[in-house]
Amino acid sequence: MLLNWKQAVSDIPVAVRLRGAHALLMIIAAIAMVLVSAPTVSAADVDAVRLWRAPDHTRVVLDLSGATDFSTLSLENPERFVVDLSQSRLSASLTSLPLEGTPISRVRSGIRQGTDLRLVFDLSASVRTSVFLLPPNDTTGHRVVIDLFDKTPTAEPKPVLSVESLEGRRDIVIAIDPGHGGEDPGASGPGGLREKTVVLQIARRLENQLAKIPGFKPMLVRTGDYYVSLKNRRDKARALEADLFVSIHADAFREKSAHGASVYALSMRGATSTTAQYLADTENAADLVGGVELAEMDPMLAGVLADLSMTGTLDASLNLGALILEQIDGVARLHKKRVEQAGFAVLKSPDVPSLLIETGFISNPGEAERLATPAYQDKMARAIRRGIQSWFARQPPPGTLLAWQREQGGREVTIAAGDTLSEIAERYGVTVASIKTNNGLSRDVIYVGQTLVIPEA
Ligand SMILES: [Zn+2]
Repeated sequence: MLLNWKQAVSDIPVAVRLRGAHALLMIIAAIAMVLVSAPTVSAADVDAVRLWRAPDHTRVVLDLSGATDFSTLSLENPERFVVDLSQSRLSASLTSLPLEGTPISRVRSGIRQGTDLRLVFDLSASVRTSVFLLPPNDTTGHRVVIDLFDKTPTAEPKPVLSVESLEGRRDIVIAIDPGHGGEDPGASGPGGLREKTVVLQIARRLENQLAKIPGFKPMLVRTGDYYVSLKNRRDKARALEADLFVSIHADAFREKSAHGASVYALSMRGATSTTAQYLADTENAADLVGGVELAEMDPMLAGVLADLSMTGTLDASLNLGALILEQIDGVARLHKKRVEQAGFAVLKSPDVPSLLIETGFISNPGEAERLATPAYQDKMARAIRRGIQSWFARQPPPGTLLAWQREQGGREVTIAAGDTLSEIAERYGVTVASIKTNNGLSRDVIYVGQTLVIPEA
């Protein structure tokens, strides 16, 4: 039935009538537009532009309201990188991007061919680029990821060859991997607490503690707020020729009551518990959130697990994990009393013993509060460090300072000003009592220049 306009409008109250009339005009306008611009392609809005700086590249992420196509163009003199998005428009500001420390001096936008969005990155240095689309996931919608790699990348950190290492007394390299980062915040807790932030803080504390111990060289796999793919994390550990890879996390579970720290190793078969399976699934999804091109995503576990060297690496991981768990037991509640196993992609190195430590559940309000405090972070780092120390004191890799000291029948330390017995015990991962027994000390008094023999841990 067709109503005459006046008749239709007079039946409804005035306020609504105005809106109704407006809506009708909009519909007419919309029909007119469709007729003019047909055939139409659904347009995408760029709702946000975000930027992260990593040591060797800069990542820009465009959040889109829908899928779109893109094309790119590199221009020289001056250096520029151009990204064109078809049927798109910019609904976000480009002025507050943190460009400091990046090769981007300015980002400009314009309309091209009436409908396309053009983004121009003015560059102060030439870069290698990679641009890709990411489909929506649980937390984000369609994204365009623009990676600008430095052409003179900061050299991959290599263990420093010291005089000792030339004489077969190298340092034991510990690759510390703070989980998540950048686009991927990891789990979230009360008050906006982010896993990526907490785990970087704990990792830094662990790095500081290990750096003070003769014979250990800690290296961080991630040093700031940017994403590193799961495969790249493993590759970095291997490039460092790490003796151990330890990935630090603080995760979430469906039930807020889930609590306790746990230590995980890779599983050759299924997961040892439903929590382990759930966490492995969550962690393995990081590449989807953090933004990794499909081609770079991990192939399945099968290939690596067929490698027999994995068996030895896995045994070492499990035994070392048990020692860390023992130490954490005194600091935090444990989720499980043994090292659990699941198919964590980040632990797939065939030749580097690898562990993933969940320092607690950030989804548990009580634990989240503790995890955010420096004192607790220090305690957690100390527990992990002690576990690592006692493992390598028992099984020093050949050619290391620790192996050499062990061959010499012990370790000697000459007391310097400011040294205390408890600090020395801490440094070598032994007890004050064992140092006293070993050196025939009846009191806690030591003096500068005194030589003590440190017992085996
Ligand atoms: Zn995590």
